[in-house]
Amino acid sequence: MSDIPSKEQLVYLRDHFAKRQKEFLASVRALVETESPSGDVDGSRAVVSLLAEIAKQISAVNSVEKIPGADFGEHLRIRAFGGDAAGAAPIILLGHTDTVHPRGSIERRPWREERNRIYGPGVFDMKTNCALALEVIRALDGMQKKPAGPITVLLTCDEESGSPSGRALVEAEAKNARAVLVMEPSASGGRAKTARKGTGMFTIEVQGRAAHAGLDPEKGVNAVLELARQTLRLHELNDPVNGTNVTVTMFGGGTASNVVPAHATAEVDLRFTSLDLGTAVEADVLAVRPFDSRAQIVVQGGINRPPLERSEKVVSLYERARQIGRWFRFTSAPGKSLRCSISIWAKRVWAEAQMGILPRRLVFRFSMDWESKAMVHTPIMSTSSSTTLPRAARCWRDL
Ligand SMILES: [Zn+2]
Repeated sequence: MSDIPSKEQLVYLRDHFAKRQKEFLASVRALVETESPSGDVDGSRAVVSLLAEIAKQISAVNSVEKIPGADFGEHLRIRAFGGDAAGAAPIILLGHTDTVHPRGSIERRPWREERNRIYGPGVFDMKTNCALALEVIRALDGMQKKPAGPITVLLTCDEESGSPSGRALVEAEAKNARAVLVMEPSASGGRAKTARKGTGMFTIEVQGRAAHAGLDPEKGVNAVLELARQTLRLHELNDPVNGTNVTVTMFGGGTASNVVPAHATAEVDLRFTSLDLGTAVEADVLAVRPFDSRAQIVVQGGINRPPLERSEKVVSLYERARQIGRWFRFTSAPGKSLRCSISIWAKRVWAEAQMGILPRRLVFRFSMDWESKAMVHTPIMSTSSSTTLPRAARCWRDL
């Protein structure tokens, strides 16, 4: 465990961020004005180029790699502090450069700074944090005491589209990591995410036999009836105590109002808190047997995303972050959210990193406004001798 930081270190960090405020905001603005909707190859490359150029100016950065992301552009992998600590497991700062905003959004909602807030498509999710990750590395680079291990910044280009090629990259990097700090916006109130449910998706198709509903219904095999019975069976798999949810979300069948339906389909959504529970329910869903032996049932699909389980390791990492936070007078409570992808305790650190309460005159604060999807930078008059953003930077180093 590291000791409490010296006043000199805090002053250094305070001065660093105060000095860099203008350049930092200019970088964020450039990123926001370079539109990169998911699947826009040119936009992705342009944003990645901007970030790569910023990274190359930081002496602690060892490598900047642009990795082709199929039809989505380029992923970006930046390795830093690998010199003395080469071979040690890195901390990964994970994010994405694509947004959900279609090209042209910047004309309708241009970058603006208003009442100490910055606005623009993708400013919240998550271009500011992409820039902030690099700024934190830059700040740590100037400190005498360097991070204990390497830091990797991994920014994928296809997250908003389900990570078709980014997923494998994230999984490969995460396997060797000491910790993965996800830069997605935190849950409301800046809560840390220490658990997240896994997901599964299934399609169920029932093949029955058509017959005239009035003349000879007994010759038919009613696919809708069969699927209705299956729906009831599936909903019995729900286990609210353990957090397992099985929901038939879409249901359809039949061809005419006077015909016994020969065909029916349903979509099933599965959520679960542990891989063991999820795998067991997955097996139950796939092992479907028809109530009417004349019907045929085909189930496709399965577990799509594993859960983030609140394991002992996750809890101890969170507690460590909290301990570090206490040294810097942060406070945080664990929370739980379903919103974003792979995510651990780091949300609070990131939220706090964005609330750099810089003391005295030219100071600003970054915090997240969940409702308005805007970033906030608020001048704050303070007589405090320490700062939140520098303290956050210290958190990264001490982890
Ligand atoms: Zn996001």
